[in-house]
Amino acid sequence: MTFKELNLKDDILSAIEELGYEFPMPVQEKTIPFMLEQTADLVALAQTGTGKTAAFGLPVLNMIDPTRKQVQALVLSPTRELCIQIANDLKGYSKNMRGMRIVPVYGGEDIRTQLRQLDTAPQIIVATPGRLIDLIERGKVELGAIDFLVLDEADEMLNMGFKEDIETILQRTPDTRRTMLFSATMPKEIANIAKRYMKNYEEITVGTKNAGAENVEHIYYLSQAKQRYMVLKRIVDLNPDIYGIVFCRTRMETKEVADKLMHDGYNADALHGDLSQAQRDTVMQKFRIRNIQLLVATDVAARGLDVSDLTHVINYNLPDDVEIYTHRSGRTGRANKKGVAVSIIHSKEKFKIKDIERMLHKSFEQQQIPNGLEVCKKQLFFMIDRMEKVEVSEEQIETYMPQIMKQLEYLTKEELLKRFVSLEFNRFLSYYKNAEDLNLPERGFERGERGERGERGPKPGGRIRLKMNVGEREGIDPKRLLGIINDVTGDKSINIGSIEVTNKFTFFDVFADQLDQVVTAFAGQSDVEVSEAKGSKTFEGGGRKPEYRPRSGGSSSSYSGGGYRGGDRSSSSRPTDSTGGGEKPWRNRDASDRGSSRSSAGGSSERRSGSSYKGGSSSYKKRS
Ligand code: AMP
Repeated sequence: MTFKELNLKDDILSAIEELGYEFPMPVQEKTIPFMLEQTADLVALAQTGTGKTAAFGLPVLNMIDPTRKQVQALVLSPTRELCIQIANDLKGYSKNMRGMRIVPVYGGEDIRTQLRQLDTAPQIIVATPGRLIDLIERGKVELGAIDFLVLDEADEMLNMGFKEDIETILQRTPDTRRTMLFSATMPKEIANIAKRYMKNYEEITVGTKNAGAENVEHIYYLSQAKQRYMVLKRIVDLNPDIYGIVFCRTRMETKEVADKLMHDGYNADALHGDLSQAQRDTVMQKFRIRNIQLLVATDVAARGLDVSDLTHVINYNLPDDVEIYTHRSGRTGRANKKGVAVSIIHSKEKFKIKDIERMLHKSFEQQQIPNGLEVCKKQLFFMIDRMEKVEVSEEQIETYMPQIMKQLEYLTKEELLKRFVSLEFNRFLSYYKNAEDLNLPERGFERGERGERGERGPKPGGRIRLKMNVGEREGIDPKRLLGIINDVTGDKSINIGSIEVTNKFTFFDVFADQLDQVVTAFAGQSDVEVSEAKGSKTFEGGGRKPEYRPRSGGSSSSYSGGGYRGGDRSSSSRPTDSTGGGEKPWRNRDASDRGSSRSSAGGSSERRSGSSYKGGSSSYKKRS
């Protein structure tokens, strides 16, 4: 499809041709004919960078009458930067339309300049909500005649607390207006706004709803929280040509991380709310022109930044909100380029990754934090590559060549290369010579466990002892327990540590990051209670875990110590008599109390756990 086929006016077609736009982008193919041919409102789910400014800008410009000196269209945007950018884009699209005036109004700048611009009777105002309300209250903006209202990045506007302002503005516009709402995500609040203020709206989606950009690979590294910075450095060192944003939670953290990076010789700077607007503009500009390779930023401060070719987005901390993750990761992988969204997490945050995976319908790949050797290799060959491609200014070097040749003539090619490489590279090699393994050991429950490379690994994540109100007398044994956990949680990847079955109770360890999942799953069903065992501590893997003592003499089966060993437990454990104890065994109780739908607890558990626990000496095996 061509722009011409979209029935845009000639003066718009000529402008976009001059801008070099050849074909409409997918969102434009959908919105332009819809807006020009129909009368309904529009909700469009589209990320920044998909061409959405032209998607609303072109049809609106096409329908506005430049000879009418009234505000006919209002575009609301969350940030000053986006506001200016939209206004500039619209000015570009309308540069051949005589009489078309577009004025941006936004906070953080002297209002008098904007008042003067408003005196020129614009047909389109692009505004941030707060400043617009100010101008409306001063009687300087009149929205009574607008035909089109665009809410751009609506989810961001809500995130930034503009909900009431938006509603106030909506109420000031005529009911006859057509509304276009653009949002990267569709939280409930947006759906509510659409329902309340938009009529018969059509919803279009570009890409997957609530999903990050298609070209983004999502990976995470698992490490101890206190080693985040070290991990960040490894990631950056492993990607010498990185051009990315490192997202932090707070201004303080942003400053700290940026300062450390700068101190360590990285090409980085910070962007946060404590900077003045002028300072922010300077940092953003430096980043845009790639004077800065790494921008360390808070979410709010980075909002106005529009850079389309980031190689990486790094979540120094995972955001609490999946939408924020979507926004962050959507900043890379734009304009048909591949991007990587990296998260540095500690073991208790693994569940957050699962949440995000579920919401985005994307799977994340856990990658090993590179070791010193890998990083050095990458850097070295990056340098060699640069050396190969460097442009040699023959003329200038020529003068010195005879003397250089003379001085180095006794060196072989190999010796020469070694020396040049060492010159650049020694600092790196010595930094990484004894670099520790930053990965958390996978088999986190072994005491005194060693890391992959024989070094002493960092302590694994904490684990918590849980107590279940059924034991041997109900027919519980470790195998059956695992089956029950499989059934109740529906998640076979829950890691279970040492198990101890007493006559009345069963005790078992779970990783702290899976605690909520297990407890919540059991809370949802009536006849088995699972709670944290009294005096339960979060044990870190490096120290010795207190041995759990059986309570009721010889009637318990203890699996503590070396931990749970797997399916052929008969060798390492004392199987319990599932039918003993006078009361109904678990299996029967399950079938009779909970009806057939639950009767699989005993049976299926045996099937699952039985086949998957064969052999293996590690204490925390995953069930499959
Ligand atoms: P936006 O999502 O509006 O920020 O647009 C992202 C980028 O794509 C901007 O740099 C636009 O100038 C550019 N763009 C928008 N539409 C087209 C098009 N049809 N062809 C080429 N570039 C476009």
